[in-house]
Amino acid sequence: MSKDLQDILVRGTAWNNKLRVFAARTTNVTEEMRVRHDMFPTATAALGRTAAVGFMMGAMLKGEERLVIQVKGDGPIGQVVVNANAKGELRGYVDNPRAHHATNQYGKLDVAGAVGTSGFIHVTKDLGLKEPYRGSVPIISGELGEDFTYYFSVSEQTPSCVAVGVLVDSDNSVLQAGGLIIQVLPGLSDQDITKLEEAIASMPSVTQMLSEGKTPEDMIAQLVGDDFTIHEQMDLKFKCNCSYERLSGTLISVGAHELQSMIDDNETIELVCHYCNEKYYFTPEQIKILKEQAR
Ligand code: ZN
Repeated sequence: MSKDLQDILVRGTAWNNKLRVFAARTTNVTEEMRVRHDMFPTATAALGRTAAVGFMMGAMLKGEERLVIQVKGDGPIGQVVVNANAKGELRGYVDNPRAHHATNQYGKLDVAGAVGTSGFIHVTKDLGLKEPYRGSVPIISGELGEDFTYYFSVSEQTPSCVAVGVLVDSDNSVLQAGGLIIQVLPGLSDQDITKLEEAIASMPSVTQMLSEGKTPEDMIAQLVGDDFTIHEQMDLKFKCNCSYERLSGTLISVGAHELQSMIDDNETIELVCHYCNEKYYFTPEQIKILKEQAR
């Protein structure tokens, strides 16, 4: 049912411009990543939760700006990486998509067990400046929502509430995925802070709201009431920028000497894009041409 809906993100403000709000439904993109990388459910949940944050952080950027989130925990799935831009486009992967599959004591997918409970979250933003922006925080729970809440308050000095969720079906496909970020701007009264904390405490999970058919806009309303304005709505999609030309460039960069030994082996080379799992093949004849360019 939900898979027929376009993945979307809405961005707005609430409570007299004292709150910034973001909400996204990312079900289709999360399912596409699951299929592309042939992931087990805990990896799907970890990548899907990180991707939901990635899309919303992407919506905080503008123009050609982009960002990379790396969750480097000590768990069996290895690092979780997503790369997002301001146009609702994202790609991502985990190192070991089939390394872990377990539920926790609450019967839910054990994301912290897959990601690990110690390590770091690194965020790199290319804002078109000389040096990229870099922010890092230690992993505090491994469930990711809490970790990104911590990231925003510590690394970006913006008190925030991050809620993300992925619901996986018994056949491992993605039923629902999405997220919500509320950021507190300066000037919010103590009374409103208390009101917001109470609303957050009694909020249903993101996947529960999506399962009930709520839109991203409905999720915001659930938390802040009617007093909000949507400034932008965007379609979300999985998009990788790899190509035969790009991978050719990677091959050329290994140098003429290495390329000659590949030609001598006389075998077709397979290169796989980490981000989207597309495979690119280079025959010895094609490598000969690339070797000419390597000089
Ligand atoms: Zn790719």
